[in-house]
Amino acid sequence: MEKKLIIVTFGELSTKGKNIMNFIRLLGKNITRILSSFSSVEINVQRDHIYILFDEKDEKEIINKLSLVPGISSFFIARKCNNDIKEICNLANDIFSPFSNLTFKVKTTRINKSFPLNSDEINREVGSYILSKNKDAKVDVHNPQVLIQIMLRENETFIYSKKEKGLGGYPVGIAGKSLHLISGGIDSPVAAFLMLKRGVELEMIHFEAPPYTSSKVIDKIKTLIRKLNIYQEKINLHIVPFTKLEKLIYDVAGPSYCVTIMRRMMLRISSIIAKKNNCLILSTGESIGQVASQTLPSINVIDTVSSLPVIRPLACYDKIEIIELAQKLDTYNTSIIPYEDCCTIFKLKDPVTHPNLKVVESIEEKLHFQELIEECVNNTKTVLVEEEKEL
Ligand code: ATP
Ligand code: MG
Repeated sequence: MEKKLIIVTFGELSTKGKNIMNFIRLLGKNITRILSSFSSVEINVQRDHIYILFDEKDEKEIINKLSLVPGISSFFIARKCNNDIKEICNLANDIFSPFSNLTFKVKTTRINKSFPLNSDEINREVGSYILSKNKDAKVDVHNPQVLIQIMLRENETFIYSKKEKGLGGYPVGIAGKSLHLISGGIDSPVAAFLMLKRGVELEMIHFEAPPYTSSKVIDKIKTLIRKLNIYQEKINLHIVPFTKLEKLIYDVAGPSYCVTIMRRMMLRISSIIAKKNNCLILSTGESIGQVASQTLPSINVIDTVSSLPVIRPLACYDKIEIIELAQKLDTYNTSIIPYEDCCTIFKLKDPVTHPNLKVVESIEEKLHFQELIEECVNNTKTVLVEEEKEL
């Protein structure tokens, strides 16, 4: 079986100074995991590139998987020939021929120093050969339209040209951990993906209100998390029993302030659970102005109770953009399955869009919620959600 090589480059990672080796090692580990089902794959992690050697038959699947790995800015797919100048000329010409009327440049990296020609000589030899075979081609050493790269290694030569775009971002795990609030709607899984793409490892928290919410919601959330397991192999899901506190809030606060106060309780509880689990921040799927609880005055009143910073990766996204991303991530069809959410069980008329902090605080004083919060925290159940392995 013909072997091919993928050369992974890092983009943003190269700006990370002395941490770079940690980044590269972690990226190498993440790539190894995502490609672990391919027996042909050999991965070699170097200072400036990661090399992936594989059987040509697996090419399509491997490329699909690599395009999902945060931290890869771009990669090249190289073809192989022997360390023989005639073979090198032929293969380079083969790779160039679809672009036969464009300008080009040949760039050689010679790792095998015993090869009789040096890099410049190889460049010239291959360049002349390509010119002789493509009448409309021209060399442009400063700004070529096509760059033909030759890597002459100890025992074989790899040649490549087209740059494939990677996902970008950082390798998952490099940025510390966030506790992500997941609701089962469209937005929160998309927001989770954006956090993962930025290198943030996630734990998840969900507030349920049985018997008003169905236990099917938890299955739905697990299905959504499994879609994200491709980026992070194992994700802890903390399930908080919220019924008692929520009913109390509804009875005392009434319909217009109910959501504001419920959100504040969610942040209070999430902050405690985050700290217990070494999460440095909270994250949510909120988007400015989407609903009453996500106006700036609401966010202002809600955020003040969180003892940790709250990141909202979708703050400035339109719903259309969020849906498009959900479709790409394959979470959309699961998210739209209708189940009662703990926020929808009590019919809320006119939730307040400009909550008044003094009003909120006076309602909360009547709640004596501290004990109930402790009860929620103590009764939280944690399950590990991980990729379903093919048997
Ligand atoms: P959608 O807007 O698509 O219905 P959503 O997930 O954004 O889904 P919202 O009601 O807009 O749902 O909630 C805003 C955010 O608050 C969510 O993205 C999520 O981070 C958090 N959230 C809402 N309800 C819950 C819940 N029951 N458990 C945990 N987090 C929740
Ligand atoms: Mg939303």
